[in-house]
Amino acid sequence: MRDPFQIDPEQPTGISFSGGRSSAYMLWRILDANNGLPENTRVCFANTGKEAEATLRFVRECGVRWQVPITWIEYRDDPVGFTVVDFASASRQGEPFEALIRKCRYLPNPVARLCTGRLKIRVMYKFLRQGGWTEWDQHIGIRADEPRRVAKIRARGNSSDSAHETMCLPLADAGVTVREVGAFWKTQPFDLELLTVNGRTLEGNCDLCFLKPRAQRLALIQARPQAAQWWMRMESLDFSKKPGGTRFRIHGPSYADLARIAASQQELFARDACDDEAPIGCFCGD
Ligand code: SF4
Repeated sequence: MRDPFQIDPEQPTGISFSGGRSSAYMLWRILDANNGLPENTRVCFANTGKEAEATLRFVRECGVRWQVPITWIEYRDDPVGFTVVDFASASRQGEPFEALIRKCRYLPNPVARLCTGRLKIRVMYKFLRQGGWTEWDQHIGIRADEPRRVAKIRARGNSSDSAHETMCLPLADAGVTVREVGAFWKTQPFDLELLTVNGRTLEGNCDLCFLKPRAQRLALIQARPQAAQWWMRMESLDFSKKPGGTRFRIHGPSYADLARIAASQQELFARDACDDEAPIGCFCGD
């Protein structure tokens, strides 16, 4: 049986590195299986501007320690649609995310997750297309123990954006679960320095992503109250002119409410930080 991490050298291949432990492990397995990064293969990290600083350091460290070029890209509201940045110049105040919200004039939400598609999938797509690719394999770090995500992506076969990309899930194909990923990182001289509970990186991806369970967002606001400010400001951009403004999650508290609750009920929610809602899986990956 073919090693799922083995890359066809004839086939252009994109590797989507989310900045999490699973996709970093996928990258390591690909490097290991191919004796380095094959020619015709590009590794991309799409920064939304709302990633934790530890994530940015982790992406940089993977590139340096494993000697693999990782292209950092960000959404831009211009005719090109993206720009290439690096660790020093990467946005840290949510600028790409805010630019997208202002362009679309609505907030992403659990039903219309335009942020994943536009800030990550499409910028990588545009970057690879600009490099002259017309058809390629796109590797993403979805694990075997994420069956809903696996099924969704397999059913589609390509990204929501394009039939030019064939989605490949080597971690899922190899039966890799969060346990194996965690065991790998325990043996490494460096790691993603973000809070992890039962293998879930609570601060991974965008810091207060609206798909994270409410109690998890509350716990994160409790730990870092200033993190709520950007999300509150986005919810105050009232594109709809409806009373009460807009929200990332219509059925639930606003980020201003969460900040208030976090300030007043610290003991109450700290106990339940992972229990109130199941996290909603998205394409952003771990
Ligand atoms: S992590 Fe959440 S907020 Fe960030 S791009 Fe993904 S779905 Fe959107």
